[in-house]
Formats: sequence, C-alpha cells, structure tokens
Amino acid sequence: MAKRKLAMAWAAGCGGCEVAVLDTGEKILSLLELAEFEFWPVALDFKLKDLQGLPDGYLDFGWLSGAIRTSEQEELAHLLRRKSRKLVAFGACACWGGIPGLANLTTRERILARVFKEIPSVENPGGVLPRTVSRVPEGELYLPEFSPRVLTLDQVTAVDYLIPGCPPRPETIWEAVSLLLGENPPAPPHAFGSRRNLCAECPREKPPAAITELARVQHTNLDGNRCLVEQGVICLGPATRGGCGARCIKANMPCRGCYGPAEEGEDQGAKMIGALAAVLAAREEADLEKTLQHLVDPVGLFYRFCLPASILGGSIIMPEKK
Ligand code: SF4
Ligand code: SF4
Repeated sequence: MAKRKLAMAWAAGCGGCEVAVLDTGEKILSLLELAEFEFWPVALDFKLKDLQGLPDGYLDFGWLSGAIRTSEQEELAHLLRRKSRKLVAFGACACWGGIPGLANLTTRERILARVFKEIPSVENPGGVLPRTVSRVPEGELYLPEFSPRVLTLDQVTAVDYLIPGCPPRPETIWEAVSLLLGENPPAPPHAFGSRRNLCAECPREKPPAAITELARVQHTNLDGNRCLVEQGVICLGPATRGGCGARCIKANMPCRGCYGPAEEGEDQGAKMIGALAAVLAAREEADLEKTLQHLVDPVGLFYRFCLPASILGGSIIMPEKK
C-alpha cells in the first residue's frame, strides 16, 4: 500500500498532544513506514508556505491539536481542512475545547486587561493593548485577532475523526494510526477510545453506596480498591469515554474527564451531575447545601475539558472577583 500523506499542526494547546506522538516509543518508526509527513512543524523544519503550496485534497489526513482562539488558528484550521481529505481533531482541546476552553468563563476584554495591564510583573504605564496592525518606521506589523471566545475544531470546520485525551494515551494514538492508515479506516464521523464509559474499565469494586459528604482527594485517606465516588470523591468516570486504561484511577487519583463525553452528543458535565445526584443520600435542602459546600469549582470540575462544546452554550461569564 502506498504511504499515506499526513500533516500535523497545532493551535491553542500546550503541545502535549504532539509530544504524545513521540511517546508511542519505537512505534513511531512504524509510523514512518506507513506515512509521509508533508507538514509537521513541531518535529521537522516546515513552514506554513509548505502547507499552503500543496494542492487541495492532497493529504490523506490532516491532524490538528489545540482549540481555536485566534484568527490565525482559524485560518490554519480552514487551510488544513482544504488540503486534507479527512480531518482529525487530535486531543481534548481540538475535540471539545480542553483546558484553554475554560477561558470562556470570562471575556476577551478581561483577559487582555489582566495579562497586559494588571499582572504585578507587567510594566505598561500607557495601558497599551496588542493591536492587529501597528505602524512602525519600517512598515506595518500584523498580529492575529484574539477571538471573542475559544472554539472547538468542529465549530470552525467539518471534522471526520476525534482522538480523545489530554493528551491521548500512546495506545489510543496507535489505535487511531493503525486504523486510519490501514486498508479499512472507520467510516466518519468516528471517535476513538471506547464507546463505554470509564467505569467499565475501572478495576475498583463498586458496591452500591449512598454518600452523605463530598471529599477532596487531598483531605481523604482513600481506599485503593473501592470506587472513588462511593468514597465521596468526585471521579468523572461515569461521564467519561473509556479507552485510557483508567490510568489516573490506578494511581489512586480521580478521573478528571480528559477523554471527553462517553457518548456522542452527550453533555459530560450534565451526565456527571446526574450520576452524583443518584448516589447523594442528602434529600433535604439544608443537608444538600452542607454536602455541596465542598464543591468549590463546579465548572472546572464538571466541564474541565469540554466547556466550549457544552450545553451551557460554550461560555459562562463569571462575575468578577472583588
Ligand atoms: S466512578 Fe471512578 S473510581 Fe468509581 S468505578 Fe467509575 S471510574 Fe472507577
Ligand atoms: S482517568 Fe480520566 S483524566 Fe485520567 S487519563 Fe483517563 S480519562 Fe483522562
């Protein structure tokens, strides 16, 4: 079979997804036997003009990691879509907004003011904010526009495949690579990982229990064999797509939900709130309030990786702290 033509690019993310490709270890050598990289600037000396110069539809697969926050990233997403027959959202940020998506808890104006005027280490007496065009003696300088909110890749252009995780585990990456580059790739749209939720692959005992108190992991002496939710610790396993091998849980840490919603179209935060409601023993309002007082950051807990894709409309503007 002829080698597949691939491009990988990176938008608003930490770069961990691209590093995770290297974490596949010696498998990366097999990847090079199956595919040819036409664009992968994080690993090889490519420039944007290399991608721009390819004929439309030339690439078998374009992979984009990171969410979309600037006009430059939006242009990159459209360019990669045009050059690729199939587009892959690679990692939680591209799929659902990821950690950068939590910036949708505030406004663009607040972010710019905080970063460029208020941070104690910033000296900016004129209160100058970045401009998209600046005139200097040598000519004009351009910066990308900082968009009003963080978007997922599929809110910008059509996506064929989702590879979940923050970052995706090497096993998930390799499953995606072998299926996509093989003879019979799955029909799009398709999300890799397991279709079952994480609890299905969690090795812990799950005796039915009712909880009266929520606990934070650092304040709890956890039993390493029992379900974390049943010990009062919020673990997003019931609402999260499986496929990671329950790696945090095996390290006695709750799942934070980085593999995203278990089922397509499902709201991860709402599903987790429902799962929690089912085991909370408190039924009186006063008891419930007491139980929930330990819930210090509900959005960061239930929507940590998926706020831009959520039923909350992609953003919630929180009141400013005084
Ligand atoms: S809630 Fe967490 S700890 Fe409990 S079974 Fe599910 S994944 Fe395991
Ligand atoms: S256990 Fe949860 S947070 Fe940890 S890697 Fe798996 S999906 Fe991600």
